[in-house]
Amino acid sequence: MGIKMRWEDFARSMGVEPQILENKEARLLKQFVMDLKFPTHCQGCQGLDLNNPNPVHHPSYELTPACNHDCIFCYSNVAVKLGKAPKPGYYGWENPYAITVSQYGEPLISPRIVEVNRMLREKFPNARLDLQTNGSLLTEELWAKLDFDLVMISLDAASREKHLKITNADTFEAVVNALRIVGSDKSVRSVVRTIFMPGINDEDIPKIAELAASLGIDEMMLQPLTIHELNVERLKKAGLDFERAESIREFLKAAMEAKKHIDVRISGCQLAIYRTMDPLTLFSAKRVAREVAPVVKRERLL
Ligand code: SF4
Repeated sequence: MGIKMRWEDFARSMGVEPQILENKEARLLKQFVMDLKFPTHCQGCQGLDLNNPNPVHHPSYELTPACNHDCIFCYSNVAVKLGKAPKPGYYGWENPYAITVSQYGEPLISPRIVEVNRMLREKFPNARLDLQTNGSLLTEELWAKLDFDLVMISLDAASREKHLKITNADTFEAVVNALRIVGSDKSVRSVVRTIFMPGINDEDIPKIAELAASLGIDEMMLQPLTIHELNVERLKKAGLDFERAESIREFLKAAMEAKKHIDVRISGCQLAIYRTMDPLTLFSAKRVAREVAPVVKRERLL
């Protein structure tokens, strides 16, 4: 007869307590997300404020769009190809909380790196200075001349062969050496920055975490993959599982694996959103992982 029952009451009438119907893995994901800390690099970024309708990334100082790596997922390469890479200079505002050197290209290629590093310290004495590098050109000698508060070194593979496949550069040993250099310097916050590329590097992620931790690296910043239209073919060829690349659950599971070895964090602007989701949404949601062209949303000031 058309009597409507709430599903919980229906379950009870069948002798089943409703909470057992809830997905256990979903609850674990929610707990994991609530326990995760924001990456050190994200502190002070507008991306953490969900009330901001148009958040922009930390200010950055761009040295060069050139890079000695040619990563299959890289937005910087895409920007260069589309003629959208920013010219060298400071993109930000007065009194920044933090400045990233740099968002495009490989800053250590530039002969101006030491000079720019000094200039930023003088001009912005209160700002946290973050170096974002692929690590391949870092030596003890250069490190002694640099002065940063946080260093992020990108590493997406745990072997020389896989690294070559992803970066198109035979620099695995040099990157590991860079992790060793910054990992043993306790005056700087050291971070290994890894992109989640299921089908390509899922097995590498816990190994990278273990390797980085053994070299004294403080934190892993695991980031979801943004798929730029111009990189689709290369990613496909490398074996990317596009379905899983868009699954929040798969991304969080990779972070859980890494957490067994290192203090793992996930991109702050993502984490802020995940924290507002209920367990079942986290379990089943897909994120939009596609973008045509990366753009800088900050004005050049210097
Ligand atoms: S990952 Fe997001 S929150 Fe973190 S620094 Fe980048 S834009 Fe900001």
